[in-house]
Amino acid sequence: MILAAVTPFRLSTRDFADCVRSAQWNTQSIDHRDIEHSQRCVPEIEDYNLAVSSLKVKQVASADFPTRWGHFLIHGFATRASASGDGARTEEAVALVMGEVHSGSPLVRIHSQCLTGDVFGSLRCDCRQQLEMALSMIAQLGAGVLIYEQQEGRGIGLMAKLQAYALQDSGFDTVEANERLGFKADQREFQMPVAILKALDIKRVRLLSNNPDKVAALENAGIQVTERVPCEVAPTEHTEEYLRTKQEKLGHLFSSRRVQH
Ligand SMILES: [Zn+2]
Repeated sequence: MILAAVTPFRLSTRDFADCVRSAQWNTQSIDHRDIEHSQRCVPEIEDYNLAVSSLKVKQVASADFPTRWGHFLIHGFATRASASGDGARTEEAVALVMGEVHSGSPLVRIHSQCLTGDVFGSLRCDCRQQLEMALSMIAQLGAGVLIYEQQEGRGIGLMAKLQAYALQDSGFDTVEANERLGFKADQREFQMPVAILKALDIKRVRLLSNNPDKVAALENAGIQVTERVPCEVAPTEHTEEYLRTKQEKLGHLFSSRRVQH
């Protein structure tokens, strides 16, 4: 059953670059975005729009989903780019939905898989803490949506992330490490969560994020962000440098954190 198709839309050069640069740095395994990605993607915008226009999202399953935080419904979604002709790559994601999300503006968090953080409790990033914070906040409100994209680092992959970690161990920051690895951006950045929100008939959200660029990207895709709700995790000795890089190089907003030089 196909619930929705992504409406074709065009991002400006800046918006696309911002989208690529920062999409989910604050929600996931971070270590896979870099400025170079953005620069490389600019000439590809025409191709990007062609690909986007063919993206569809399909609801694969829905089930009851009790959790430590409360009772959700879990919906499984898959996408397939049918018109690109280059071997359509399927993306998968789940949406955890609690309560009434169609009246007003529900709290929404978009999280990308971070195996090291989400499963193993890595202290190199703040992904797991942000994930748990999001689920907890949704549960406290009794309503909201958490979209969890299955691709580690949006398709860049776990192995590449570990390589980036190794570079960071040699003294590079998270952005520099990615640049040295020469990753290309996922051109369908944000298309999956946007498609899921539309499939769920959610047009307005309060976005749980520290990333103003993500707000802009969602709005460009037709999702109204009525409020950006901070999702800030206190830094530890392991994450201080990483969070500072996100703040200084990626423009993330941290109300309680001072950059120390
Ligand atoms: Zn992580």
